[in-house]
Amino acid sequence: MRPARHLARPGSYGPPGAFAGDNNLPCRTGRRLARTEYAPTSAILDAVGTDDVVAAEWERGWHSSDKFICVHCIGDDYLRNVVARAVTEDEECSFCDSAPAAEFDVFMEAFMVGVNNRFEQADDAGMPWEGGYVFETVDQYDLPDRFDWVAAGEHDVAVVDEIRDRLAEKTYTSRW
Ligand SMILES: [Zn+2]
Repeated sequence: MRPARHLARPGSYGPPGAFAGDNNLPCRTGRRLARTEYAPTSAILDAVGTDDVVAAEWERGWHSSDKFICVHCIGDDYLRNVVARAVTEDEECSFCDSAPAAEFDVFMEAFMVGVNNRFEQADDAGMPWEGGYVFETVDQYDLPDRFDWVAAGEHDVAVVDEIRDRLAEKTYTSRW
């Protein structure tokens, strides 16, 4: 005699609506769906939550700028070269009004390479905490002053202030 075959209807498992197959969804999808309940999505981001962008900006340590910068406002050869390659004739520098200029983000990204060579985020450094970081730290407000040579010309203070405004609120520690 053949054993009885179990042809249970899907709805007979668990509470109503909890069809077992639902558990086979990739967790990635589940996470993304859950996340959008809390953060708005943007069509331009192709369904990636805006919190993903915020998280990425936090990770890199700075927020995007809507400003532009020209080579005359930069005091470092490497940064000047990076910006010189990215300038367009129809953009004007937000600091000195001269054209051509490149997006400040281009400058900022290259600047942060230099920062990350000399400093790391204190929370990533595994630094002991005994009522405060035990080594010398620099917060994001003071950090740009350690690199003030990157700005040049009569608008150098405004350039350094823009860097300051773009930095995420973080504590840095020297790599040596
Ligand atoms: Zn300029």
